[in-house]
Amino acid sequence: MRTRPCCRVGCSRRAQFTLTFDYGDKMAALGPLSYRAEPHSYDLCQFHAEKTSVPAGWLLIKPTPLGQPPVPPTAG
Ligand SMILES: [Zn+2]
Repeated sequence: MRTRPCCRVGCSRRAQFTLTFDYGDKMAALGPLSYRAEPHSYDLCQFHAEKTSVPAGWLLIKPTPLGQPPVPPTAG
């Protein structure tokens, strides 16, 4: 299995998650490490994945094993 380092400055842990941004829908999705680095995606270690936050108005989707169950988008 291919490994890449966490993309955070000063962090030398192994990346375990990939954070992908969808700028059109103002959505950020955290998922298992992707097979290859993609544009607009960031590799993160578990520590930084758990600390990930998104700008106000953005939706952050996390895989369930990482923390709490995903919060469903509020209707209306
Ligand atoms: Zn890290």
